[in-house]
Amino acid sequence: MRPDNEHLIELLSTKGEEALQELYKQAYEVKKQFVGTTVYFRGLIELSNICTKNCYYCGIRSGNPEFQRYQLSYEEAMAEAIWCYENHYGSLVIQAGEREDKAWTDFITRLIKGVKEATNGKLGITLSLGEQTEDIYRQWFEAGAHRYLLRIETTNRDLYKQLHPADHSFAHRLACLRILKKLGYQVGTGVMVGLPGQSIANIADDILFFYDEDVDMLGMGPYIPHHGTPLKHLVEGFNGKAALELGLKMIAACRIALKDVNIATTTALQALHPEGRELGLMAGANVLMPNITDTKYREGYQLYEGKPCLDENANQCISCLSRRIASIGETIGFDEWGDSRHFTKRQE
Ligand code: SAM
Ligand code: SF4
Repeated sequence: MRPDNEHLIELLSTKGEEALQELYKQAYEVKKQFVGTTVYFRGLIELSNICTKNCYYCGIRSGNPEFQRYQLSYEEAMAEAIWCYENHYGSLVIQAGEREDKAWTDFITRLIKGVKEATNGKLGITLSLGEQTEDIYRQWFEAGAHRYLLRIETTNRDLYKQLHPADHSFAHRLACLRILKKLGYQVGTGVMVGLPGQSIANIADDILFFYDEDVDMLGMGPYIPHHGTPLKHLVEGFNGKAALELGLKMIAACRIALKDVNIATTTALQALHPEGRELGLMAGANVLMPNITDTKYREGYQLYEGKPCLDENANQCISCLSRRIASIGETIGFDEWGDSRHFTKRQE
Protein backbone atom coordinates (compact mmCIF):
# COMPACT_ATOMS: atom_id res chain seq x y z
CA MET A 1 0.00 0.00 0.00
CA ARG A 2 1.28 3.47 -0.88
CA PRO A 3 2.50 5.17 2.30
CA ASP A 4 0.32 7.95 3.62
CA ASN A 5 1.91 11.36 3.21
CA GLU A 6 0.52 12.76 6.47
CA HIS A 7 1.78 9.74 8.38
CA LEU A 8 5.26 10.14 6.89
CA ILE A 9 5.36 13.80 7.88
CA GLU A 10 4.28 12.82 11.38
CA LEU A 11 7.05 10.19 11.67
CA LEU A 12 9.67 12.59 10.33
CA SER A 13 8.55 15.32 12.71
CA THR A 14 9.03 13.17 15.82
CA LYS A 15 10.62 15.18 18.64
CA GLY A 16 11.89 14.45 22.14
CA GLU A 17 14.09 11.59 23.29
CA GLU A 18 11.29 9.29 24.43
CA ALA A 19 9.25 9.66 21.23
CA LEU A 20 12.38 9.19 19.11
CA GLN A 21 13.27 5.96 20.90
CA GLU A 22 9.70 4.76 20.31
CA LEU A 23 10.05 5.54 16.60
CA TYR A 24 13.35 3.65 16.29
CA LYS A 25 11.86 0.73 18.21
CA GLN A 26 8.88 0.59 15.90
CA ALA A 27 11.17 0.65 12.85
CA TYR A 28 13.35 -2.07 14.38
CA GLU A 29 10.30 -4.31 14.81
CA VAL A 30 9.43 -3.86 11.14
CA LYS A 31 13.04 -4.63 10.21
CA LYS A 32 13.00 -7.82 12.33
CA GLN A 33 9.79 -8.95 10.70
CA PHE A 34 10.65 -8.17 7.07
CA VAL A 35 14.42 -8.46 6.69
CA GLY A 36 15.76 -9.87 9.96
CA THR A 37 18.72 -8.77 12.06
CA THR A 38 21.61 -9.94 9.91
CA VAL A 39 23.85 -7.09 8.78
CA TYR A 40 25.26 -7.45 5.26
CA PHE A 41 28.69 -6.04 4.55
CA ARG A 42 29.70 -4.42 1.28
CA GLY A 43 33.39 -3.56 1.17
CA LEU A 44 33.63 -0.05 -0.23
CA ILE A 45 36.40 0.83 -2.69
CA GLU A 46 36.67 4.55 -3.38
CA LEU A 47 38.21 3.90 -6.77
CA SER A 48 38.87 7.47 -7.87
CA ASN A 49 38.11 11.05 -6.85
CA ILE A 50 38.25 12.28 -10.44
CA CYS A 51 34.85 13.69 -11.31
CA THR A 52 33.57 15.57 -14.33
CA LYS A 53 30.63 16.95 -12.39
CA ASN A 54 30.42 19.85 -10.04
CA CYS A 55 27.58 19.22 -7.57
CA TYR A 56 27.54 22.20 -5.21
CA TYR A 57 27.48 20.10 -2.03
CA CYS A 58 30.28 17.65 -2.76
CA GLY A 59 33.87 18.01 -1.57
CA ILE A 60 35.36 16.16 -4.56
CA ARG A 61 33.46 18.18 -7.20
CA SER A 62 35.54 19.09 -10.23
CA GLY A 63 35.65 22.75 -9.23
CA ASN A 64 37.47 22.07 -5.95
CA PRO A 65 41.20 22.44 -6.63
CA GLU A 66 42.23 21.36 -3.14
CA PHE A 67 42.59 17.61 -3.74
CA GLN A 68 45.20 15.81 -5.67
CA ARG A 69 43.20 13.58 -7.98
CA TYR A 70 43.85 9.84 -7.83
CA GLN A 71 42.77 6.62 -9.45
CA LEU A 72 43.61 3.20 -8.07
CA SER A 73 45.49 0.97 -10.48
CA TYR A 74 43.89 -2.27 -11.66
CA GLU A 75 46.23 -4.24 -9.39
CA GLU A 76 45.45 -2.08 -6.34
CA ALA A 77 41.70 -2.40 -6.89
CA MET A 78 41.97 -6.15 -7.45
CA ALA A 79 44.01 -6.57 -4.25
CA GLU A 80 41.28 -4.77 -2.27
CA ALA A 81 38.55 -6.87 -3.88
CA ILE A 82 40.41 -10.07 -3.05
CA TRP A 83 40.97 -8.87 0.53
CA CYS A 84 37.21 -8.39 0.70
CA TYR A 85 36.56 -11.91 -0.56
CA GLU A 86 39.14 -13.53 1.73
CA ASN A 87 37.66 -11.73 4.70
CA HIS A 88 34.25 -13.16 3.84
CA TYR A 89 32.52 -9.92 2.89
CA GLY A 90 29.79 -11.10 0.54
CA SER A 91 29.93 -8.06 -1.72
CA LEU A 92 31.92 -5.17 -2.99
CA VAL A 93 30.88 -1.59 -3.80
CA ILE A 94 32.93 0.22 -6.41
CA GLN A 95 32.38 3.95 -6.05
CA ALA A 96 33.99 6.96 -7.72
CA GLY A 97 33.41 10.37 -9.20
CA GLU A 98 31.54 10.39 -12.48
CA ARG A 99 33.34 9.85 -15.77
CA GLU A 100 32.00 8.65 -19.11
CA ASP A 101 35.18 8.44 -21.19
CA LYS A 102 36.00 5.11 -22.81
CA ALA A 103 39.29 4.61 -20.97
CA TRP A 104 37.33 4.73 -17.71
CA THR A 105 34.30 2.65 -18.72
CA ASP A 106 36.61 -0.02 -20.19
CA PHE A 107 38.69 0.01 -17.01
CA ILE A 108 35.55 -0.67 -14.98
CA THR A 109 34.48 -3.50 -17.29
CA ARG A 110 37.90 -5.11 -16.99
CA LEU A 111 37.81 -4.74 -13.22
CA ILE A 112 34.35 -6.29 -12.89
CA LYS A 113 35.43 -9.26 -15.01
CA GLY A 114 38.69 -9.57 -13.07
CA VAL A 115 36.88 -9.62 -9.71
CA LYS A 116 34.36 -12.18 -10.91
CA GLU A 117 37.11 -14.42 -12.23
CA ALA A 118 39.33 -14.12 -9.15
CA THR A 119 36.48 -14.96 -6.78
CA ASN A 120 34.78 -17.71 -8.82
CA GLY A 121 31.82 -15.42 -9.30
CA LYS A 122 31.20 -15.41 -5.55
CA LEU A 123 31.81 -11.79 -4.64
CA GLY A 124 28.75 -9.65 -5.37
CA ILE A 125 29.47 -6.38 -7.17
CA THR A 126 27.59 -3.13 -6.63
CA LEU A 127 28.51 -0.06 -8.66
CA SER A 128 28.13 3.57 -7.71
CA LEU A 129 29.61 5.38 -10.69
CA GLY A 130 27.00 7.94 -11.56
CA GLU A 131 25.09 8.56 -14.76
CA GLN A 132 26.11 6.52 -17.81
CA THR A 133 24.59 5.52 -21.14
CA GLU A 134 22.34 2.48 -21.41
CA ASP A 135 25.05 0.68 -23.38
CA ILE A 136 27.59 1.15 -20.61
CA TYR A 137 25.17 0.08 -17.90
CA ARG A 138 24.47 -3.02 -20.01
CA GLN A 139 28.17 -3.67 -20.58
CA TRP A 140 28.85 -3.55 -16.84
CA PHE A 141 25.82 -5.74 -16.07
CA GLU A 142 26.93 -8.34 -18.59
CA ALA A 143 30.45 -8.20 -17.12
CA GLY A 144 28.98 -9.25 -13.75
CA ALA A 145 27.79 -6.22 -11.75
CA HIS A 146 24.33 -6.80 -10.33
CA ARG A 147 23.49 -3.82 -8.15
CA TYR A 148 23.73 -0.10 -8.79
CA LEU A 149 23.48 2.84 -6.43
CA LEU A 150 22.46 6.16 -7.88
CA ARG A 151 21.03 8.62 -5.42
CA ILE A 152 18.43 10.99 -6.76
CA GLU A 153 19.79 13.40 -4.07
CA THR A 154 16.46 15.22 -3.68
CA THR A 155 13.20 14.73 -5.53
CA ASN A 156 12.28 18.39 -5.25
CA ARG A 157 13.04 19.73 -8.76
CA ASP A 158 13.65 23.32 -7.57
CA LEU A 159 16.03 22.23 -4.85
CA TYR A 160 17.81 19.94 -7.31
CA LYS A 161 18.34 22.95 -9.60
CA GLN A 162 19.69 25.05 -6.75
CA LEU A 163 22.19 22.38 -5.74
CA HIS A 164 23.57 21.60 -9.19
CA PRO A 165 24.99 23.46 -12.17
CA ALA A 166 22.53 23.99 -15.05
CA ASP A 167 23.83 21.04 -17.08
CA HIS A 168 23.15 18.51 -14.30
CA SER A 169 19.69 17.16 -15.03
CA PHE A 170 17.17 15.64 -12.64
CA ALA A 171 15.29 14.14 -15.59
CA HIS A 172 18.42 12.41 -16.84
CA ARG A 173 19.23 11.00 -13.42
CA LEU A 174 15.71 9.63 -13.14
CA ALA A 175 15.94 8.15 -16.64
CA CYS A 176 19.18 6.42 -15.59
CA LEU A 177 17.46 4.84 -12.58
CA ARG A 178 14.72 3.47 -14.83
CA ILE A 179 17.22 2.10 -17.36
CA LEU A 180 19.12 0.33 -14.57
CA LYS A 181 15.94 -1.33 -13.44
CA LYS A 182 14.97 -2.36 -16.95
CA LEU A 183 18.40 -3.95 -17.44
CA GLY A 184 17.88 -6.16 -14.40
CA TYR A 185 20.05 -4.46 -11.78
CA GLN A 186 18.99 -4.31 -8.17
CA VAL A 187 18.50 -0.59 -7.97
CA GLY A 188 19.41 1.61 -5.06
CA THR A 189 18.77 5.28 -4.71
CA GLY A 190 18.53 7.78 -1.90
CA VAL A 191 18.73 11.39 -0.89
CA MET A 192 20.65 13.62 1.44
CA VAL A 193 18.60 14.91 4.34
CA GLY A 194 19.02 18.29 5.99
CA LEU A 195 19.93 20.01 2.73
CA PRO A 196 19.64 23.81 2.81
CA GLY A 197 16.10 24.76 1.83
CA GLN A 198 14.73 21.22 2.26
CA SER A 199 11.54 20.79 4.30
CA ILE A 200 10.10 17.79 6.11
CA ALA A 201 7.38 17.68 3.44
CA ASN A 202 10.11 17.41 0.77
CA ILE A 203 11.63 14.43 2.57
CA ALA A 204 8.24 12.76 2.89
CA ASP A 205 7.88 13.22 -0.89
CA ASP A 206 11.28 11.52 -1.33
CA ILE A 207 9.92 8.44 0.46
CA LEU A 208 6.86 8.42 -1.79
CA PHE A 209 9.23 8.61 -4.76
CA PHE A 210 11.11 5.53 -3.49
CA TYR A 211 7.79 3.71 -3.24
CA ASP A 212 6.56 4.83 -6.67
CA GLU A 213 9.84 3.90 -8.36
CA ASP A 214 9.73 0.55 -6.56
CA VAL A 215 13.41 0.72 -5.58
CA ASP A 216 15.24 -2.20 -3.97
CA MET A 217 17.85 -0.44 -1.88
CA LEU A 218 18.35 2.87 -0.14
CA GLY A 219 21.47 4.76 0.81
CA MET A 220 20.63 7.98 2.57
CA GLY A 221 22.62 10.18 4.81
CA PRO A 222 22.65 13.56 6.43
CA TYR A 223 24.05 16.35 4.29
CA ILE A 224 27.28 17.60 5.86
CA PRO A 225 28.77 20.83 4.49
CA HIS A 226 32.30 21.00 3.09
CA HIS A 227 34.54 24.06 3.05
CA GLY A 228 35.61 23.48 -0.57
CA THR A 229 32.11 23.94 -2.01
CA PRO A 230 29.85 26.91 -2.86
CA LEU A 231 27.88 25.94 0.28
CA LYS A 232 30.91 26.51 2.54
CA HIS A 233 29.07 29.22 4.51
CA LEU A 234 27.05 26.35 6.03
CA VAL A 235 30.09 24.77 7.69
CA GLU A 236 30.03 27.21 10.56
CA GLY A 237 26.88 26.80 12.59
CA PHE A 238 26.24 23.28 11.22
CA ASN A 239 24.21 21.39 13.80
CA GLY A 240 25.59 17.84 13.76
CA LYS A 241 23.20 16.58 16.43
CA ALA A 242 20.12 17.72 14.52
CA ALA A 243 21.55 16.32 11.27
CA LEU A 244 22.18 12.94 12.87
CA GLU A 245 18.68 12.87 14.34
CA LEU A 246 17.09 13.66 10.98
CA GLY A 247 19.25 11.01 9.27
CA LEU A 248 18.06 8.39 11.77
CA LYS A 249 14.43 9.48 11.52
CA MET A 250 14.67 9.12 7.74
CA ILE A 251 15.97 5.56 8.05
CA ALA A 252 13.19 4.70 10.51
CA ALA A 253 10.45 6.27 8.38
CA CYS A 254 11.72 4.45 5.27
CA ARG A 255 11.82 1.12 7.08
CA ILE A 256 8.29 1.58 8.42
CA ALA A 257 6.92 2.73 5.04
CA LEU A 258 8.83 0.47 2.65
CA LYS A 259 9.43 -2.59 4.85
CA ASP A 260 11.51 -5.07 2.80
CA VAL A 261 14.09 -2.88 1.02
CA ASN A 262 17.76 -2.98 1.92
CA ILE A 263 18.77 0.19 3.76
CA ALA A 264 22.40 1.15 4.27
CA THR A 265 23.65 2.80 7.42
CA THR A 266 26.04 5.30 5.91
CA THR A 267 29.42 6.75 6.82
CA ALA A 268 27.92 10.23 7.03
CA LEU A 269 26.11 9.06 10.19
CA GLN A 270 29.41 7.91 11.65
CA ALA A 271 30.95 11.28 10.82
CA LEU A 272 28.42 12.84 13.20
CA HIS A 273 28.63 10.29 16.02
CA PRO A 274 31.23 7.60 16.76
CA GLU A 275 28.43 5.04 16.89
CA GLY A 276 26.36 6.62 14.12
CA ARG A 277 26.26 3.50 11.98
CA GLU A 278 25.14 1.28 14.87
CA LEU A 279 22.43 3.84 15.62
CA GLY A 280 21.44 3.51 11.96
CA LEU A 281 21.09 -0.27 12.37
CA MET A 282 18.96 0.27 15.47
CA ALA A 283 16.75 2.67 13.50
CA GLY A 284 16.05 0.10 10.78
CA ALA A 285 19.07 -0.15 8.44
CA ASN A 286 20.47 -3.61 7.55
CA VAL A 287 23.48 -2.99 5.28
CA LEU A 288 26.87 -1.57 6.16
CA MET A 289 29.63 -0.55 3.79
CA PRO A 290 33.01 -0.68 5.54
CA ASN A 291 35.60 1.36 3.71
CA ILE A 292 38.36 -0.94 2.45
CA THR A 293 40.21 1.67 0.37
CA ASP A 294 43.93 1.89 1.10
CA THR A 295 44.33 4.62 3.74
CA LYS A 296 46.81 6.52 1.55
CA TYR A 297 43.91 7.52 -0.72
CA ARG A 298 41.33 8.38 1.89
CA GLU A 299 42.37 12.01 2.40
CA GLY A 300 41.47 12.52 -1.25
CA TYR A 301 37.89 11.27 -0.95
CA GLN A 302 36.40 13.74 1.48
CA LEU A 303 32.88 14.47 0.36
CA TYR A 304 32.16 16.40 3.56
CA GLU A 305 33.90 17.68 6.68
CA GLY A 306 35.02 15.18 9.31
CA LYS A 307 34.85 11.98 7.24
CA PRO A 308 35.79 9.25 9.73
CA CYS A 309 38.36 6.41 9.61
CA LEU A 310 40.82 8.27 7.40
CA ASP A 311 43.70 6.43 9.01
CA GLU A 312 42.05 3.14 9.96
CA ASN A 313 42.88 0.30 7.59
CA ALA A 314 40.46 -2.42 6.55
CA ASN A 315 41.79 -4.96 9.07
CA GLN A 316 41.33 -2.55 11.98
CA CYS A 317 37.94 -1.67 10.60
CA ILE A 318 36.66 -5.28 10.51
CA SER A 319 37.62 -6.13 14.09
CA CYS A 320 36.16 -2.90 15.42
CA LEU A 321 32.95 -3.39 13.44
CA SER A 322 32.49 -7.01 14.46
CA ARG A 323 32.69 -5.99 18.12
CA ARG A 324 30.23 -3.16 17.63
CA ILE A 325 27.70 -5.29 15.78
CA ALA A 326 27.86 -8.04 18.39
CA SER A 327 27.32 -5.36 21.05
CA ILE A 328 23.90 -4.52 19.60
CA GLY A 329 22.93 -8.19 19.34
CA GLU A 330 23.06 -8.53 15.55
CA THR A 331 24.99 -10.96 13.36
CA ILE A 332 27.05 -10.35 10.24
CA GLY A 333 26.03 -12.15 7.04
CA PHE A 334 29.54 -13.28 6.12
CA ASP A 335 29.91 -14.72 2.58
CA GLU A 336 26.33 -13.75 1.74
CA TRP A 337 25.24 -11.37 -1.01
CA GLY A 338 22.35 -10.23 1.14
CA ASP A 339 20.16 -9.36 -1.80
CA SER A 340 17.27 -7.03 -1.23
CA ARG A 341 14.16 -9.06 -0.34
CA HIS A 342 12.20 -6.47 -2.20
CA PHE A 343 14.15 -7.32 -5.34
CA THR A 344 13.65 -11.06 -4.84
CA LYS A 345 9.89 -10.51 -4.53
CA ARG A 346 9.92 -8.22 -7.56
CA GLN A 347 11.41 -11.08 -9.58
CA GLU A 348 8.76 -13.61 -8.56
N1 SAM B 1 29.68 10.22 -8.28
C1 SAM B 1 28.70 9.25 -7.99
C2 SAM B 1 27.35 9.88 -7.77
O1 SAM B 1 27.28 11.08 -7.53
O2 SAM B 1 26.36 9.13 -7.84
C3 SAM B 1 29.05 8.37 -6.79
C4 SAM B 1 29.91 9.00 -5.74
S1 SAM B 1 29.17 10.37 -4.87
C5 SAM B 1 30.51 10.94 -3.94
C6 SAM B 1 28.18 9.47 -3.66
C7 SAM B 1 27.22 10.29 -2.85
O3 SAM B 1 27.90 11.15 -1.96
C8 SAM B 1 26.32 11.23 -3.60
O4 SAM B 1 25.25 10.54 -4.20
C9 SAM B 1 25.89 12.22 -2.52
O5 SAM B 1 24.59 11.92 -2.02
C10 SAM B 1 26.92 11.98 -1.41
N2 SAM B 1 27.50 13.26 -0.97
C11 SAM B 1 28.18 14.14 -1.71
N3 SAM B 1 28.47 15.25 -0.97
C12 SAM B 1 27.94 15.07 0.26
C13 SAM B 1 27.88 15.86 1.44
N4 SAM B 1 28.44 17.06 1.50
N5 SAM B 1 27.24 15.34 2.52
C14 SAM B 1 26.69 14.11 2.47
N6 SAM B 1 26.71 13.32 1.38
C15 SAM B 1 27.32 13.80 0.28
FE1 SF4 C 1 30.90 14.05 -8.59
FE2 SF4 C 1 29.20 12.38 -7.33
FE3 SF4 C 1 30.43 14.40 -6.03
FE4 SF4 C 1 28.53 14.99 -7.80
S1 SF4 C 1 28.26 13.81 -5.85
S2 SF4 C 1 30.51 16.01 -7.62
S3 SF4 C 1 28.87 13.40 -9.32
S4 SF4 C 1 31.38 12.63 -6.93
